[in-house]
Amino acid sequence: MTNGVMRRKKVNCMGKFRVEIDKNACQGFGACVELCPQFFQLSDVDGKSTIEGAKKVMKENEVVAETLELDKLECIREAAEACPFNAIHILNLETGEKLI
Ligand code: SF4
Repeated sequence: MTNGVMRRKKVNCMGKFRVEIDKNACQGFGACVELCPQFFQLSDVDGKSTIEGAKKVMKENEVVAETLELDKLECIREAAEACPFNAIHILNLETGEKLI
């Protein structure tokens, strides 16, 4: 039981990719939500793109970004490429390469 919990924690913290939403760049039109609704939603709070379970990056009491680490991008890359404001960034944590 304990081992199972520890293993799950490690998977959650160590993804292969880091996805970041730049909240200042996002204009909330929702192309990402349309292309990848299983990850992206528009927030009821600020009307901008959000990912459930993502870590919020705060600056002066304001959420400036959200980041999520995960092993598979699935439709996230397509959504990031479609963002007209370049508000979604993807980093390959294994190679350090910025994909978008
Ligand atoms: S497509 Fe880009 S600008 Fe539009 S909601 Fe998504 S992140 Fe924001």
